[in-house]
Amino acid sequence: MDLTTRLHLLDLVRLSASAESACRAAERAETRARLRRKDAAAARRRCRSTVRTAPSSDLDDAVKALADAERDFEARAGRAEAAALRWRRAFSASERADARLGEELARTRKLTCAGGPRRKGARLTAEVALLAELAAMPAELIRAASALLVQSSAGKDSVVALARVVRWATAAGCLDKVVVVHADIGQDAEWPGVRDLARQQAERYGLRFVVVKAPDGFLGMVEKRGLWPDAQNRLCTSTLKRDEAAKFFTQIVDELGLDEQALLVNCLGIRADESPSRRKKHELAIDHRASNGRRLVLTWHPVFHLSETEIWQEIVDNGLDYHPVYDTLIPRLSCIFCVLASFDVLVRAVRLCWVWGLETPKTYVDLEDRIGHRFKNKFSLAEVVAEAERQEAAEGPITWRRGDAIRRHLGDDAAMAYLHRLALAA
Ligand code: SF4
Repeated sequence: MDLTTRLHLLDLVRLSASAESACRAAERAETRARLRRKDAAAARRRCRSTVRTAPSSDLDDAVKALADAERDFEARAGRAEAAALRWRRAFSASERADARLGEELARTRKLTCAGGPRRKGARLTAEVALLAELAAMPAELIRAASALLVQSSAGKDSVVALARVVRWATAAGCLDKVVVVHADIGQDAEWPGVRDLARQQAERYGLRFVVVKAPDGFLGMVEKRGLWPDAQNRLCTSTLKRDEAAKFFTQIVDELGLDEQALLVNCLGIRADESPSRRKKHELAIDHRASNGRRLVLTWHPVFHLSETEIWQEIVDNGLDYHPVYDTLIPRLSCIFCVLASFDVLVRAVRLCWVWGLETPKTYVDLEDRIGHRFKNKFSLAEVVAEAERQEAAEGPITWRRGDAIRRHLGDDAAMAYLHRLALAA
C-alpha cells in the first residue's frame, strides 16, 4: 500500500474518531437537557398543586408562579427535543464515518471494521498499525509532509530531535519544509539564554525560527488562576505550549495556501524513558485535537526510543550546543522551577539562580505567598529556598565546569573531545 493511501486511511480514522466523540458529546448534552426537562416538569406539578390548595390571599402569586413554571417547562422541552435531534444526527454521522472507514479498510487492507461494540477497537487497531508503518518510512513521510514543525525548548532532547529531522529532511531533499517553533513561557520563568539558544540551534541549519507566546506567560497564568499547575493538571503545557503551537498550525496552513488538506508533521523531543505516561505514547500519533478538514496533524517523536545516554552521545557526535544548566546537575532545561521537578532539583535551581544573580526565587516565593497555594502538594517553594540557604551556608555557592553533563554520562574523554570540537568550530 502506498503512502497516499495510508494517509487517506488515517484521515478517515480521524474523521471516524471525531464523529464518535461529537456523538458522545451530543448524547451527554441530550441527557442533560432531558434531566432539566424532568426537573421543570416536577416544578410545574408542584406549582399546579399549590394553585389548587392556595388560600385566596396567595392565589395571584401562585398563578403567576405556575405561569412561569409552564413557560420554563415549554422552553426546556423544546431544548430537549432539539438536543435529541442533534444527537440523532451526530449518531448518523458517526455511523456514516465508520461505514466509510470500514469499506476503505476492507478494500485496501482486507480488514473488517464491522459495526457494534468491536467498532472502536478495530479503528484503534487500524490506526496503530498505519502509524507504525508510517514511522518506519521517515523519508516518505517527510516527502509527503506539507511542513515539518520541530517544537524546540532548546533542551537536550529537542536539539537531538532537530538534528535528526534535519538529517532526514536533507536526505529527502526537503530541508525547506522544516520550521523550528519555540514556545516562550515568559522570560521571568525560564533560564536566561533559552530563546537565543533555540534560535541558534535553528540558525545552524538555516531554518526558519518562530516564537509563539501566550500573552500572560507562566507566572501571569498562575497569578490569574491563583493555583500552581501540577502533574494531573498541566495547564502550563497545554495553555503555554500546545494551544499556542496550534495557532501556528493555522498560520502555516494559511501560508501554504493549498487546495487540499495539508499534512503537518509536528516533531517533539520526548522520550519513552522519561516517565511511565510517556512510555505509553507512540513514536507517531494523530493529533486529533489539532487536525481538521484543512490539516492532518501527525505528532512525531524522533528520539522516542533513545536513552538519556544516547541523547548525550548524539550531542557529542554531532557537536550540538547545549545550555549550561545541564552542567550544574539540573537534568532538564524546563522552567527554572518546574512543577514536576523533585525537591533536590528545585534546591539546586535556587542555588544556580543565586550564582547567576536571578531574582526568580524571590519572585516565585512572593507569588506563592500572595495566592496562598503551595508550589507542590508536598512542599512549598519557601521550604525549597530555606533548604537552599542551609546548603549554601554549609557548602558555599555551587560550582561546575563546562562539559560536566557529558562527563557525567559519557566520561572525561568524551567531554574533552566535545569541548575541543566546539573550540575548533568557534
Ligand atoms: S517546564 Fe514544568 S512548569 Fe514549566 S511549562 Fe513545562 S511542565 Fe509546566
